[in-house]
Amino acid sequence: MKIIEPSATLVDEINPDEILLKLEACGRVSHQSQPREGSTEKFVRMLIKRGHESVLEHVSLTFRIICDRAIQNELVRHRHASFTVESTRYVKYDELEVIAPRWQEQTFLYRKWYSHMREVENTYKDMIEHGARPEDARSVLSNCVKSELYMTCNLREWRWILKQRTDKAAHPQMRQIMNQVLAVFKEKLPVIVEDINYDS
Ligand SMILES: Cc1cc2nc3c(=O)[nH]c(=O)nc-3n(C[C@H](O)[C@H](O)[C@H](O)COP(=O)(O)OP(=O)(O)OC[C@H]3O[C@@H](n4cnc5c(N)ncnc54)[C@H](O)[C@@H]3O)c2cc1C
Repeated sequence: MKIIEPSATLVDEINPDEILLKLEACGRVSHQSQPREGSTEKFVRMLIKRGHESVLEHVSLTFRIICDRAIQNELVRHRHASFTVESTRYVKYDELEVIAPRWQEQTFLYRKWYSHMREVENTYKDMIEHGARPEDARSVLSNCVKSELYMTCNLREWRWILKQRTDKAAHPQMRQIMNQVLAVFKEKLPVIVEDINYDS
């Protein structure tokens, strides 16, 4: 059994200037106005400030996310996003990869969780060795088993997800992942997320 960390990585090679220029061009069509030298960022900021966010739907980004099965279930509730998810029907695990809860190692709760997961792994492997298909043996797997997925959505939906999922009310693992997504936005497209803070 291998314990791994959750993560989010931008898949696309993006050109932030091109993205902002595209959004400006889309946004200006309504009034048939023309861009001026250095107007792009200001214009996109104005769109967001006025709530004219449908313009942001013209650009989408894809992230590769590593999370546990419970967080995966929460992510797929976002209906404007597209997903491709590792299948526990078609993947046969020789070694389980899991994401640990946030308990400190050596505490009672952690040790209890760890020994239970070793048992889960052994039971799963036994079932496979005795001829079970992964799609049946998976019924013993726990929420903490790792999932890999690709998640694509437009910038309007990313803004909404980041607001919801970096909030303190969100699950700690979800916040850990969404803080990584937010860091990518802060680095590459800061104007899109100026009003969104880490663990806001
Ligand atoms: C802290 C937290 C706790 C939660 N707890 C629970 C829980 O206990 N049980 C549970 O079932 N879920 C729970 N959820 C999930 C939550 O109810 C939403 O399903 C999830 O966060 C997706 O949000 P959404 O529907 O706003 O956004 P998305 O699906 O991402 O959609 C974005 C926006 O598009 C609009 N939209 C999308 N579809 C429609 C539609 N059909 N009609 C009208 N407008 C639409 C809405 O404005 C929506 O906000 C929880 C979420 C959070 C953040």
